[in-house]
Amino acid sequence: MAATDVRKPDHAASKRHFIFTEEHDALRESIRSFATKELAPHAEEWEQTTFPDWVFRRMGELGFLGLSYPEEYGGQGGDYFASIVLAEEIVHARCGGLAMGIAVHTDMATPPVHVFGTEEQKQRYLVPAIKGGKISCLGITEPDAGSDVSGIKTRAVRDGDEWVINGSKTYITNGHRADFIVLVTKTDPDAGHDGFTLFIVDMDLPGVIREKKLVKMGMHASDTALLAFQDVRVPDSAVLGQIGKGFYHIMWELQGERMIGAAGAVAGAQRLFEQTLQYANERVAFGRPIGKFQVTRHKFAEMATKLEAARQLNYTTAWRFANGEYPVREISMAKLYASRIAVEVADECLQIYGGAGYMQEYGVERVWRDLRLNRIGAGTDEIMLDVIGRSYGL
Ligand SMILES: Cc1cc2nc3c(=O)[nH]c(=O)nc-3n(C[C@H](O)[C@H](O)[C@H](O)COP(=O)(O)OP(=O)(O)OC[C@H]3O[C@@H](n4cnc5c(N)ncnc54)[C@H](O)[C@@H]3O)c2cc1C
Repeated sequence: MAATDVRKPDHAASKRHFIFTEEHDALRESIRSFATKELAPHAEEWEQTTFPDWVFRRMGELGFLGLSYPEEYGGQGGDYFASIVLAEEIVHARCGGLAMGIAVHTDMATPPVHVFGTEEQKQRYLVPAIKGGKISCLGITEPDAGSDVSGIKTRAVRDGDEWVINGSKTYITNGHRADFIVLVTKTDPDAGHDGFTLFIVDMDLPGVIREKKLVKMGMHASDTALLAFQDVRVPDSAVLGQIGKGFYHIMWELQGERMIGAAGAVAGAQRLFEQTLQYANERVAFGRPIGKFQVTRHKFAEMATKLEAARQLNYTTAWRFANGEYPVREISMAKLYASRIAVEVADECLQIYGGAGYMQEYGVERVWRDLRLNRIGAGTDEIMLDVIGRSYGL
């Protein structure tokens, strides 16, 4: 720059982060366009009915269910950041429950099949899951054990060359529609953390009971199930990963789940921020747009700063995760911070909307309800704080 040049801020400059490429930009555009055109028009209706299974098939057709899975299994062979792009752009469906149902399938239930599964399991479950022909769910939480995963009671007992599973899982996203579940069980109650084993269980087996559709505060477009397993017999080939190592396998899975959750939370709040910004420019009170009151301007400044900080933490952490590190502390920080600020942003946007924010037709109250789950699901704020605190030897 020459000494005589005058530099002015360019707020409209491209904001592409260095983890993303032009290919990610193109992917971003195609997911956003799909979500806006094919999904968002149904968002209101799906609040009542839950979103239909064709969404999985359609997304499979478009290649969106296997973005970072290898091509040999029908995936797109992309990097981890392609999954982040999906989590960020699916928010344009304006349907938190749909985003969650899809994320459970693409980034929570199927990654353990890809990483720990046998070739036969990948052909039988991962390949159709990527096509959208088989829907998956993940069963960790039980009526008596959520945060304390080691307290689960679902038992799998060996019987000849079969296993017999008994127990119960609750709050299971996709639980009513799923074709298979990645199930966390206890196989040796005396072995501590070495007494857990994962199974892939077909949901149409005798003894698998979809007990109840649970009614929720938000995320209405997703289906949430209470499941029972009564003497469900599965062969040895249903064991996923190593016998006795299921606790460590599922802790690994939770890191990806939290990373994707953090990306989705920030993107959901960012979308609402932009919608609210437009509203603040249009809505007039006391002779001027409400955005021109300094108090409102400062609310936007606070929100934008939080969103930017959360996004940068997410991207840096995702970069480390994608490069082979296992940054559990930073993933916990990213999940904690993103969830908290997303809820704060949603609440502030609702306030800026005033009475309209409280009405269903603007979709603001829905985002407010949906985002609230982030502080609970995939590990609560308190558990994230505990993981972070313990990582310092406390
Ligand atoms: C809509 C929805 C969808 C979900 N989908 C799935 C799914 O698909 N699969 C699945 O397996 N699970 C799912 N979950 C479960 C979710 O992950 C759990 O709800 C969450 O982990 C918390 O467990 P809990 O509800 O049993 O709460 P609890 O563990 O009973 O916790 C209750 C309170 O105690 C606090 N607490 C617990 N332990 C500690 C501690 N050590 N220190 C400090 N505070 C503590 C918690 O932070 C919380 O505030 C879903 C939940 C919801 C609401």
